[in-house]
Amino acid sequence: MLTRRVTVLGSTGSVGVSTLDLMAQAEAVGAGKFEVEALTGSSNIALLAAQARRWRPRLVVTADPGRLETLREAVTGLDVEVAAGPDAIAEAAGRPADWIMAAIVGAAGLRPAWAAAGSGATLALANKESLVCCGPALLERARAAGGAVIPVDSEHSAIFQVFAGDRPERVARIILTASGGPFRSFSRAEMASVTPEQAVAHPNWSMGAKISIDSATMANKGLEMIEAAYLFGMAPSQVDVVVHPQSIIHSLVEYVDGSTLAQLGPPDMRTPIAYALAWPDRLPWPAPKLDLAAQAQLTFEAIDPERFPALELARGALQAGGWSPAVFNAANEVGVHAFLDRRIGFLDIAMVASETLARMGSGAAARGAGVACEIALEVDAEARRVATTVVAQRARAA
Ligand code: NAD
Ligand code: MG
Repeated sequence: MLTRRVTVLGSTGSVGVSTLDLMAQAEAVGAGKFEVEALTGSSNIALLAAQARRWRPRLVVTADPGRLETLREAVTGLDVEVAAGPDAIAEAAGRPADWIMAAIVGAAGLRPAWAAAGSGATLALANKESLVCCGPALLERARAAGGAVIPVDSEHSAIFQVFAGDRPERVARIILTASGGPFRSFSRAEMASVTPEQAVAHPNWSMGAKISIDSATMANKGLEMIEAAYLFGMAPSQVDVVVHPQSIIHSLVEYVDGSTLAQLGPPDMRTPIAYALAWPDRLPWPAPKLDLAAQAQLTFEAIDPERFPALELARGALQAGGWSPAVFNAANEVGVHAFLDRRIGFLDIAMVASETLARMGSGAAARGAGVACEIALEVDAEARRVATTVVAQRARAA
């Protein structure tokens, strides 16, 4: 039976809830037994408190200091420490645990992921922004602390499962699959007028709002390309993307001899989370299984760069190197929020990223020495300022 002392950062989000659900299902069939060190959330105090009642963690933290008293009241009677604010979340992340799920969304996940990487725990990394913003340094930090980083993003979990880590030079290419999102067959003109409601309605995956929009623009695949290059030591030109609308093949690895290995599974995040949780073992939980005959068809198509420019923007940022991926990530996040607030159109999201990268120029690539995570946050803040100006100019012009 799998036993782990776990911390879930971002336990109230889509990945966090799936993680706790998986743990509960594994316990129910006697496949696992889990102790919880810490759970963290932000605004959904009712859910965080319900999770605390179920899992009895040592510590619960909300990111919002204004909600500390509400949280304290909601867990009255439980023997649990309560804290609030970004520093408390980073402290929770650095506490000793066997396994830490990093599932906070956005750049807010950076410091916690950095703290978790330094703790020597097995780090299940869902927060792709921390890899994109300071991937090489984060991986090195985890390695130096004696921990492992296991990707949770479904594509990277797939690659991790079929990648010959001991012979990386025998890998020719990584092929990420993309569902194509809700606008796969829309024309550019149709895409110009889509609403946030249409954009968050993902055809295959149920996810948080930010990543759902990123799937619709393919910025998500751009971030994943950067993630993959860092995680597996591939050059930007060695990471390709193919649209696969059924989301059954989660990614592929092509070897130098022409053999290609793929990982398949139903589109359910609990499968890659289960892999990360049990790694290097496998968890016999009551998983949803593939029925290939019922599935009948797996199809593939190329990405249209005219309609989905975010992918090549991300590749450009990766090629430019240095902190450019952090600029891309921050500008994209600003663009996504402006779109969700209806201040800019859907196609403007990529324009904001492209314009911000252009305005920040090579200044984004080179920065002085220091703690990588802190430099990444400085770059992130500067890119947000520039992107916010770009958004304001665009909103005025519209
Ligand atoms: P979500 O929006 O559903 O949940 C985000 C979590 O982060 C919540 O627990 C929230 O309380 C917490 N949070 C939000 N703002 C915070 C802040 N300022 N400080 C601390 N905590 C804060 O997001 P999600 O869809 O679960 O995604 C989480 C991460 O996993 C993202 O980086 C996303 O890219 C990645 N990811 C998600 C999926 C998916 O299927 N949802 C798949 C692959 C990767
Ligand atoms: Mg993914």
